[in-house]
Amino acid sequence: MAQKDIFPVTGPAAAGQILPFYLAGENGDGALIRGRLASVGGPASSILARHGYPEMVASLQAEALAIAACLSTFMKFDGVFTLQAKGNGFVKTLLADVTSDGALRGYAAFDDENVPSLGDDMVAAMPASVPALLGTGYAAFTVDQGTENGRYQGIVELAGETLGDAAMAWFANSEQVDSHIVAAAGRHGDDWVATALMVQRVAADGGNQTTASRAEQDDAWTTADMLLRSVTREELVDPQLAPEDLVFRLFNALRPHVAPSQPVQDKCRCSPEKVEAVLSRMSPEELAGLVAESGKVEVTCEFCKTMRAVDPGISRH
Ligand SMILES: [Zn+2]
Repeated sequence: MAQKDIFPVTGPAAAGQILPFYLAGENGDGALIRGRLASVGGPASSILARHGYPEMVASLQAEALAIAACLSTFMKFDGVFTLQAKGNGFVKTLLADVTSDGALRGYAAFDDENVPSLGDDMVAAMPASVPALLGTGYAAFTVDQGTENGRYQGIVELAGETLGDAAMAWFANSEQVDSHIVAAAGRHGDDWVATALMVQRVAADGGNQTTASRAEQDDAWTTADMLLRSVTREELVDPQLAPEDLVFRLFNALRPHVAPSQPVQDKCRCSPEKVEAVLSRMSPEELAGLVAESGKVEVTCEFCKTMRAVDPGISRH
């Protein structure tokens, strides 16, 4: 316990990783429920440090990063998974994307003239309130594998209270498998802990290789869902609680098994070549309008805030 006082913000939950696990059920064998615990506090902290968002926007962004990381590992793809929400509220755009090898990034666009005065209780609410921050709008979930047929997208209305609700509405449409996700983000000094935890029923015909009866499988799902809903905000944002420990604490009755975790890191995909490619598609008039006093076109990546000054001549070969 002494360690808790000495290292308040660099605990195991502050790293960037996704822990896959499965639940065998009370009596059965095989995997009746699959789960993922995404802990992206480390990458979220460095991403948010570059942006200086108001606390409530930072919290929503951290949650989006955790949810994107968590959802991405339920799908088989080789490319980029994107969660994007557009709203008519204070936050206009919220974006988080993650590659299949764990490179995470995100940004939010908001009305900085009209920062709402939400009480601390609202900011600390678990999870961030979608109606209060984004208002009404939609959320889009996109898998892009960089090939002609490798892109698919699902869009849902922002009807629920949370980003997790929007993710579940999309999952219910596209996968039609019982699933549930919870997410929360919390700040400890300059560091964030951001966690998303999801369980999904393994379909009886989906190769779950179990001897459990249908009734036992139903019971296992009902119990897993109930246990997930019992998780507290304190548990999800506790920097000292290791992901494995949270899984075993919550789902002990369903005999959890964990797999090796997959790393997630703060890594943008922008490059000088991509900036030049965008500029080379612009007309000379458009380009002229972008030239700064320095005589160069200054382009700042909205994800990682890297500024690149490009000579407008070089994009015209
Ligand atoms: Zn970038």
